[in-house]
Amino acid sequence: MEAVIAVIGAGTMGAAIALLFANAGFEVTLVDKSRGALRRAEDRHRGESLEELEEAGLRKRDNPASLITYTTELRVDECDFIVEAIVERLRDKIELFRKIEERNSPAVLATNTSSFMPSEIARHLANPERLTLFHFSNPPILMPLVEVGGEIVSDETVERAVEMAKSIGKEPVVLRKECRGHVLNRMLGAAGVAVGYCLLYSRPEEIDAALRNLGMRYGFFETLDLIGLDVAKDVLESFREYYGDKYRGIRAMDFFMEKMVEWGKLGKKSGEGFYKWDGRRASIPEANPADVTPLVAAIVNEAFRIVEDGIAEEEIVNRVYRLATNAPYGIIDAAELLGYQCLIEALDDAFNKTGLEVFRPCKTLRSKA
Ligand code: NAD
Repeated sequence: MEAVIAVIGAGTMGAAIALLFANAGFEVTLVDKSRGALRRAEDRHRGESLEELEEAGLRKRDNPASLITYTTELRVDECDFIVEAIVERLRDKIELFRKIEERNSPAVLATNTSSFMPSEIARHLANPERLTLFHFSNPPILMPLVEVGGEIVSDETVERAVEMAKSIGKEPVVLRKECRGHVLNRMLGAAGVAVGYCLLYSRPEEIDAALRNLGMRYGFFETLDLIGLDVAKDVLESFREYYGDKYRGIRAMDFFMEKMVEWGKLGKKSGEGFYKWDGRRASIPEANPADVTPLVAAIVNEAFRIVEDGIAEEEIVNRVYRLATNAPYGIIDAAELLGYQCLIEALDDAFNKTGLEVFRPCKTLRSKA
């Protein structure tokens, strides 16, 4: 397939996405306003990202970075597929896409936004039907998921995005109805609140040990470190601005996250977050697994709420979870293994103790139990 790609934002996500395209043989322009970010991206492209391509079984060429031009200028005129992966701020994304449209109106515009609905950006553009969700799961080279779609995007744009995701070795999932956080991050958002409750009685490494035992490739705190605590905080703020109390959390956890960001402990990208990092690996202390039933119950509860809200069917929610975590099964499969009665009991108990909305059992879950 012939296409010239631009990726805007060379941070955790954009750098990896650019390499995925170059590895598949596309010519790529990687743009960032920070020279430092471009330098770090280039270093990763010649080191750890190549290891990740190997590990994912995707590596196709010796030096994919040779197909990438690194620049601080918004050089997108000749591109026909443009992926945005800049900071999670709605007005910054709108401003960027408007500038891109001034230079290149026929290109397909793809946003990797974690929380905003694609139409929240698209409705400010001259050609809103050209903008699609194109949301990767982290680490983007290793995880197969890309959520694609939107409510005002054209079928043609969605088809093109699906094709492009497949061409770089990913498994796209099309979502027609929008919500902030799409499918994956609504589950992660609920988990982010619920894990604060688990922290009242367990340590991060104990919680992560339990989640790895349940088949997740990474524990929750390891995932937070991979995402970046600054990015996770932006996403939670976007959720709370839109959904109000629904994702209200334990105050101690919110305070702690804020302090970590203030102290520059952002996770893997700064070398330390919940864990210390040496390149691609976190040093996680050995630990006995904690009881994470309330955490899993909150994710299952959110999964069924997504279905109740008409965002996606059970099968899609199940699949999104499996592709984003690399677990051998989806979240609904996990619920069936654990048993609905046990999940409801955990939710009722946590809700009675905390009053947090993520623990209030939804109708579907109650009826299943
Ligand atoms: P990051 O902070 O690592 O990188 C963002 C980069 O964008 C920075 O290098 C910054 O200099 C650059 N930037 C900011 N504004 C810019 C502009 N106007 N023009 C050019 N460059 C600009 O962030 P990230 O983790 O890579 O996240 C990027 C996007 O992807 C966000 O929307 C985020 O919500 C989303 N996302 C993140 C993850 C994750 O796990 N980190 C997963 C999926 C989606």
